[in-house]
Amino acid sequence: MSTFAPPATDVATHCPYCALQCGIRLDVADGAPRVAGNPEFPVNRGALCIKGFTAAETLDHPERLRAPLVRDARGELVPAAWDEALERIASGVRTTQERHGRDAVGVFGGGSLTNEKAYLLGKLARVGLRTKHVDYNGRFCMSSAASAAIMALGVDRGLPFPVEEIARADAILLVGANPAETMPPLMQYVQEARASGGALVVADPRRTLTAQSATLHLRLAPGTDAALANGLLHVLVRDGLIDREFVDERTEGFDAVRGTVATYWPERTERITGVAEGDLARAARLLGTARRPMVLTARGAEQQAQGVSNVLAFVNLALALGRRRESFAAFGTITGQGNGQGGREHGQKADQLPGYRRIDDASARAHMADVWRVAAHEIPGAGRSAYEMLDGIGHPDGVRALLVIGSNPVVSAPRALHVAERLRALDLLVVADFFLSETARMADVVLPSAQWAEEEGTTTNLEGRVVLRRRAVAPPDGVRTDLEIITAIAERLGRGEWFVSAEPRDVFDELRRATAGGVADYSGITYDRLERGEAVFWPCPSLGHPGTPRLFAERFATPSGRARFHAVRHGEPAEQPDAAFPYHLTTGRVLAQYQSGTQTRRVERLTRIAPEPTAELHPLVARRAGVADGSLVTLVSRRGEAVARARITRDIREDTVFVPFHWGGMESINRLTNPALDPISRMPEFKVCAVRVEPHVPARRAEVA
Ligand code: SF4
Repeated sequence: MSTFAPPATDVATHCPYCALQCGIRLDVADGAPRVAGNPEFPVNRGALCIKGFTAAETLDHPERLRAPLVRDARGELVPAAWDEALERIASGVRTTQERHGRDAVGVFGGGSLTNEKAYLLGKLARVGLRTKHVDYNGRFCMSSAASAAIMALGVDRGLPFPVEEIARADAILLVGANPAETMPPLMQYVQEARASGGALVVADPRRTLTAQSATLHLRLAPGTDAALANGLLHVLVRDGLIDREFVDERTEGFDAVRGTVATYWPERTERITGVAEGDLARAARLLGTARRPMVLTARGAEQQAQGVSNVLAFVNLALALGRRRESFAAFGTITGQGNGQGGREHGQKADQLPGYRRIDDASARAHMADVWRVAAHEIPGAGRSAYEMLDGIGHPDGVRALLVIGSNPVVSAPRALHVAERLRALDLLVVADFFLSETARMADVVLPSAQWAEEEGTTTNLEGRVVLRRRAVAPPDGVRTDLEIITAIAERLGRGEWFVSAEPRDVFDELRRATAGGVADYSGITYDRLERGEAVFWPCPSLGHPGTPRLFAERFATPSGRARFHAVRHGEPAEQPDAAFPYHLTTGRVLAQYQSGTQTRRVERLTRIAPEPTAELHPLVARRAGVADGSLVTLVSRRGEAVARARITRDIREDTVFVPFHWGGMESINRLTNPALDPISRMPEFKVCAVRVEPHVPARRAEVA
């Protein structure tokens, strides 16, 4: 007997933007989808930010791409049939690989792609295109936190505990994080902690909205995070405020760290960081006398050429504070992108295979060879990291054809003018996106893809909780899902037998087998469990397994089971202010825009709030530069210049300028940022470079060397 179920008109799903993955209810009853917070989802508990509330406005947007575009003989992008577009891609890939080898083709993914897409994109690179070059924009987001967590704790999961643990903390140190603007629903947990008498200490060069609500704001100079952490630990050791029992029972390597931090006495720490000795002592006392202290880092500390050292220094601090012995919940990182966690687990990272396996691990290669039905030696080795892949375009051993899905590197990569110039040197650039992004505008072939509410898929939020995004509406005619696009490309290249289904459930089932036995084991997670509303955190190694909300309850994921201290020292940022470029530039996000702005710059309610980038300038900086509040300024670094509107405020240090990075063209602040890379994570130094500030002269030269 057939059963007929009318299509749901009130669909429980998740926000397409940041890593909180707020639960939403999407009402599609009258053809104009409306968003409300889902009070039943335990993470946001009904709360949303303005980005979530307006997320449906991108679905039926007039600028949606509804047909493939190919570049014609005159150099114009013109509409084309799918068949023509796919054939152009296949012949371009074939020609490039015949002439220059398989590794001449690269794949660039994104941290907003669902788990299924991230998995299939990595497989497309290694099995479909048989190239080693695949990486993604999450390299620009979470890579330093990930490397540090693996080194110190043995596993990288942003929060190794559920978000409600934040409410139970009685002293929280937030480092380089501004959740009041970037992730507002998370603040309810911070506010609960405060309401119970807990303290909030914020370390940030700016007096952000989050810092304004803090018990104490440590206004450190950009690029001095490791010195601040070492200085805090110095005071804790000096004042007998470390948890010696925890350190002895559950960690290793403390003695070397104690030796290092001994040289970070408060006067020296103040000289390096600009944080007054008294504030340092007060912060140390708030944390050191708390019963349940917690340290949370984010991009401010991580997006630096010393990002891994910075995070390790704060892990040291958390381990020394130790106190939550049964379920160590003293350290976490706040993931940024929507699937920033799952995006780095399933094989779109240059050095990893699905399940968070290392690509140079023989047993991991054997496992994946079995799942993929190829020989282990056929799986390529590690490729170049995101910026290095882009920078190497046009070099003799570099990439010459690039497939970009779910990313807009012309806006989001550092030294953006150089990146755009490298992309112009490609023989073939293919971009799949919903809109004609800045990167898509440069492409030879543009493929229109489906959006979040038009397809099913899973993501993994900042806690390691796997959630199901449901399909609520049909994609526009002419649009395909990314899974269909990946599968179609593989078919055109004669590799279709390895890509038999573009159905999210089928791909997820393969992902479950691929991750079985890995660090991030999803083998016990099913769509049925997620549809029933089960809260499943990885690792979940069998169908009867409840998942693992708290990772380090009994042991850390290191061979010894103990967390590892790492002795780290402060080092100068790659570029320091000088006479020509006298200020630090630091970049970040604002409430009403998201990442490169491809979606949010097209939502009218958001552009009314944040129509253009503002440069936060201290009054002294503005006076020296001769600029007035609200006027346009030109910011110049050694790599380029950009235009922003001056916002004069005492909420920023006198030596620092802040500009958000969500805009393109002359408003793209990444034209200025420094691609100096962390030696371990290959994270570029987005958070600090040297700039000067000038009044904007409209006709001035647009670019500098
Ligand atoms: Fe969406 Fe993040 Fe805002 Fe929640 S906090 S509504 S997930 S952008």
